[in-house]
Amino acid sequence: MKAIEKSLKLDNVCYDIRGPVLREAKRLEEEGHRILKLNTGNPAAFDLEAPEEIVQDMILNLPNAQGYSDSRGLFSARKAIMQYCQQKNFPQVELDDIIIGNGVSELVVMAMQALLNNGDEMLVPAPDYPLWTAAVNLSGGRAVHYLCDEQSDWYPDIEDIRSKITSKTRGIVVINPNNPTGAVYPEELLEQIVQLAREHDLIIYADEIYDKILYDGTEHTAMASIADDVLCISFNGLSKSYRAAGFRAGWLIASGPKHLAQDYLEGLEMLASMRLCSNVPAQYAIQTSLGGYQSINDLLLPGGRLLDQRNTIYSLLDQIPGVSCVKPKGALYVFPKLDPKVYPIHDDEKLVLDLLLQEKILLVQGTAFNWPNPDHLRIITLPRVEDLESVATKLERFLSRYKQ
Ligand code: PLP
Repeated sequence: MKAIEKSLKLDNVCYDIRGPVLREAKRLEEEGHRILKLNTGNPAAFDLEAPEEIVQDMILNLPNAQGYSDSRGLFSARKAIMQYCQQKNFPQVELDDIIIGNGVSELVVMAMQALLNNGDEMLVPAPDYPLWTAAVNLSGGRAVHYLCDEQSDWYPDIEDIRSKITSKTRGIVVINPNNPTGAVYPEELLEQIVQLAREHDLIIYADEIYDKILYDGTEHTAMASIADDVLCISFNGLSKSYRAAGFRAGWLIASGPKHLAQDYLEGLEMLASMRLCSNVPAQYAIQTSLGGYQSINDLLLPGGRLLDQRNTIYSLLDQIPGVSCVKPKGALYVFPKLDPKVYPIHDDEKLVLDLLLQEKILLVQGTAFNWPNPDHLRIITLPRVEDLESVATKLERFLSRYKQ
């Protein structure tokens, strides 16, 4: 038989968070090494477990969850999402404006597949959560990266966005709170993005999966709430705030002038029908998650685990010579910079591979997030303080002797 090659569609598709360095980490584990894996934002893997009532609710409903559901999702779950929209001031959301998916990931791919023709452009942040770039490219589109500026708390550079809009631009992706930078954008900045979308007929894709993970009293404005005359597709789910990433439950919400987007929304619905429905047991957990006590808040208050961990890793990184870091205001990551004058790194994937081999720590290199220069790393803030202290010590030791 001839060698079997992957499709050309995958030529520009890249998702390095689970790339070659992770394969090497698995090999080391098989050899018996303990690897501290700080590469994915998976709360349950760090004893940050889903609220008990969500798990119980899913178990209780398992007998009812044997059949397919409506392709858009269960009525009760979408009702609960509608209530969430009301709390966040989304403009007029109806039940059928919501589609539930197997995590946000599936819906992002569907949203891009339904929209993009070959050569269409999508504005995506740099750095980004790389699923977005991959989904655009998989769909035949071209991800055009706009700069988020480290000097300005990692906020999107509005002039850079403006300069990259062409006649082929179909939309703009905004990840807020941001992975990997931890930035949370002020309302005035979001308004400037909405204004650009308004002027150039762009759809806004608002990935707000971290909207409840906020530090230091930071507030989050839902993009949809200030964009009632612009088509906005907002994304959220159970993976982060509810620590249930393995359940695979996420949703998208269409808001704004939906009557102008009927054809696109029908396309999305068709893709939702083609996969019949998203996993039903997890859909049963959505209503319970969104209602009642939001235990995520306890982890973010003074003395809460997520806040302590964010503080620890941020201050320890800041003490390492040649390392600087913008303090994250939300999400589960820090994205430190390695000063190129102190650490002249040419290949940051090799850097994380060497770090893995020498110190048995797994991080992700900045270029995996479509950051153009090999001078950043992403570290998750989920491990316990003791583990983060050990990471900082080992990283400092490694960097002090690292030459490329
Ligand atoms: N969007 C962002 C910004 C993320 O960081 C992640 C996961 O890390 C996702 C989407 C994917 O979430 P889900 O587990 O719902 O597929």
